[in-house]
Amino acid sequence: EQIILEVKDLQKYYPIQRGVFRSTVGHIRAVDGVSFSVRAGETLGLVGESGCGKTTTGRCIIHLEKPTGGEMFFYKDGVKTAITQKTIRNLRRDLQFIFQDPYSSLNPRMTVEQIVAEPLITHGLKNKTELRDRVVELLTAVGLSGDHLRRYPHEFSGGQRQRVGIARALALKPQLVICDEPVSALDVSVQAQVINLLQDLQEQYGLTYLFIAHDLSVVYHICNRIAVMYLGRIVELAEVDELFANPRHPYTEALFSAIPLPDPDNQLEQIILEGDVPSPADPPSGCRFHPRCRYAQPICSQEQPELQALAGSENHLVACHFGEKLSLRGLKIA
Ligand code: SF4
Repeated sequence: EQIILEVKDLQKYYPIQRGVFRSTVGHIRAVDGVSFSVRAGETLGLVGESGCGKTTTGRCIIHLEKPTGGEMFFYKDGVKTAITQKTIRNLRRDLQFIFQDPYSSLNPRMTVEQIVAEPLITHGLKNKTELRDRVVELLTAVGLSGDHLRRYPHEFSGGQRQRVGIARALALKPQLVICDEPVSALDVSVQAQVINLLQDLQEQYGLTYLFIAHDLSVVYHICNRIAVMYLGRIVELAEVDELFANPRHPYTEALFSAIPLPDPDNQLEQIILEGDVPSPADPPSGCRFHPRCRYAQPICSQEQPELQALAGSENHLVACHFGEKLSLRGLKIA
């Protein structure tokens, strides 16, 4: 498969500052050594609880936040470009972002036409008729219409606002769209509509998605592969069906056990994780999951397990000392 995005050992640390001189006394390690690739045309899910670093990872990729370390590469037509502060301006055409909160991500003083036209104008489209035609075309593609051009964001529902956000993200015909929990701020009743829309648009425009979510049941339907994050690191990465049928990381198993299923007979007994998520300022030694893992052994607090492929299954990566041996419970979703 062709790779479109490669992330290598990404780190994002935030300094913790104290005292009158704001001296740095430590770091919050929000993202701490994350590596993965996204294949052209796929949807890769990045999943974990809030604070696991998934959103920060997405924001670092397009330099909405400055990474502390690591490298990122974008591939197009056989050309590999490092994504840096300098190159990101030119790469913005190809790399777009859909924000979680459609209420705060749209400028309330701009009309829908101005919002969707803005990236087009920034990238040189000046002709007024062409601009309007393109904006109407984009609004139609997301299920709105030319009738909405002169309206303001506050006149729309959450679902409609997110459609405007999607139209804006697609304006420059990007290759890769990072969707940061695009439906979690919306009513449950409109979540499925927006997910369906994203899937239709992916087919229509040949898009690749990095889909950030905290809810495994949402990503099940839209993703080809899923990377599970815990405390700033990826702990497991596999094809969706493989991950659900055959999880190999105890944290993934615990996430599955928390998903309510329509058929109570299939419901897994919930695995209650002991204690709170530890602080990313002072992550546990060895495997970061060890204080909460019911399979932990002495080695787990001493050595950090690397994310690596299972024997005989190069597409299934797991970061657990016992990933090959544990027999964990998967999840059957009808
Ligand atoms: Fe649990 Fe040890 Fe595996 Fe970490 S390495 S997930 S503590 S068994």
